[in-house]
Amino acid sequence: MNLIGHFVDGKLLSGTAARRGDVFDPATGVPTAEVELASAAEVAAAVEAAERAARRWRDASLSRRTAVLFAFRELVHARRDRLAEVITAEHGKVLADAAGEVQRGLEVIEYACGIPAAMRGGYSENVSTEVDSYNLRQPLGVVAVISPFNFPVMVPLWFVPVAVATGNAVVLKPSEKDPSAALLLAEWFAEAGLPPGVLNVVNGDKEAVDALLDHPAVRAVSFVGSTPVARHVHQRASLAGKRVQALGGAKNHMVVLPDADLDLAADAAVNAGFGSAGERCMAISALVAVEPVADALVEKIAARMAELRTGDGRRGCDMGPLVTAAHAERVRSYVEAGVAAGAVPVVDGRDVRPDGDPNGYWLGPTLFDRVTPEMSVYTDEIFGPVLSVLRVGSYEEAVHLVNANPYGNGTAIFTNDGGAARRYQHEVEVGMVGINVPIPVPMAYYSFGGWKASLFGDLHAHGADGVRFFTRGKVVTSRWLDPRNGGVSLGFPTPT
Ligand code: NAD
Repeated sequence: MNLIGHFVDGKLLSGTAARRGDVFDPATGVPTAEVELASAAEVAAAVEAAERAARRWRDASLSRRTAVLFAFRELVHARRDRLAEVITAEHGKVLADAAGEVQRGLEVIEYACGIPAAMRGGYSENVSTEVDSYNLRQPLGVVAVISPFNFPVMVPLWFVPVAVATGNAVVLKPSEKDPSAALLLAEWFAEAGLPPGVLNVVNGDKEAVDALLDHPAVRAVSFVGSTPVARHVHQRASLAGKRVQALGGAKNHMVVLPDADLDLAADAAVNAGFGSAGERCMAISALVAVEPVADALVEKIAARMAELRTGDGRRGCDMGPLVTAAHAERVRSYVEAGVAAGAVPVVDGRDVRPDGDPNGYWLGPTLFDRVTPEMSVYTDEIFGPVLSVLRVGSYEEAVHLVNANPYGNGTAIFTNDGGAARRYQHEVEVGMVGINVPIPVPMAYYSFGGWKASLFGDLHAHGADGVRFFTRGKVVTSRWLDPRNGGVSLGFPTPT
């Protein structure tokens, strides 16, 4: 069986780990590889390689760094179909969706190609007589990136290109469920001219993550995953004195006002609810229908769901399997809990007939109507193809519901009323807001991040926040000595 190891100091390593995990093809249930799970000692070796590389890489000119990034961009672009195939084989999402993920990752590489402009500082002449002041942004050294299973390419690319472009060295710990794509990215970065040790990949689980959080040479941690683990990462790394951005889980609401175009809203709800089998942190899982539109909206959504094909992501289906057998079981148990709690299963995904191997991890798109806020299908992040409709009587009730939710990643409002949309963007306590856009993932030159239990830390991913996260500011005050400036004075310096 294929053995997936690590990439350290420019070389693939395997056969050293005492522990291994299985990697499955979710569309067939067949184990396709074993992934090595790094020990703390193996993590330390990767951090040491990164430390050595960081000392040299910080001195590489901006031109040299961007030359590597441009070459890397060309390689990823030319090989994007190969990358999409690797994603589909281990994650299960359909090929077209995997290609979309690669495209969004490419956009961050392109943003990082412009790092000379993004890192430019300011200069003030004569802050005091013949004294000038300017600021620099410098790399941190070694940084860790820890990523989830659901975007094995895009999430590492939210951070790695910006971290490398700003002069840091990286240790990336991908999800052990779909580890292959990260290794390809590291090999292609090396092929593009990135020196050995600047990007290392260690595969592993909690043991590897905790080793990164504790290692004194790791100066910053970018984490994306579920909220309980994000909270743990934020607390443990902060205690160790590191800079942390830990992006967590979500429960994203789409509010539909009575004046909205219900056909467009139904299209959007289906796309954002069931794309990638709902395994997106920006998936819509709660649809808040402001009466009197709920009946019509539910009918339109159900009609569209009847057309969806669930099956093997390589067969042109709309929706693939869930990532693992255990996760499929967990999502199924939420559907059962929803029925038991009295939610109305308008479309029940447990009845799905997939276009794929019967041993795949299947669950079809599921639509619940008349969900109430205390039901577990609403309170919990299910991370599967389950869309819950909540009926409310007014805009105010809708905003109150969204703001009372502990998560605050993304949200959308559907309306043709500009004033209502503007009021929503002002009042809603969520980090990313869509107006008639169901999945408002910011472009690479803005920053991605939620509020409340969806992000621990303060700086968001990529864009200007990403550059700030991976750099430290320094302000220089300079005077070219002139005999006129001499003389002894113990007073506190003030501008003259
Ligand atoms: P996860 O939290 O299980 O795992 C994320 C990473 O943490 C993996 O690399 C994993 O190996 C590691 N890990 C798991 N358990 C750990 C533990 N106890 N201690 C230390 N490390 C641990 O998340 P997942 O299932 O891979 O991904 C899905 C979750 O990620 C969902 O909750 C989703 O909303 C979230 N997510 C959030 C965003 C965002 O931008 N906010 C983006 C993508 C995914």
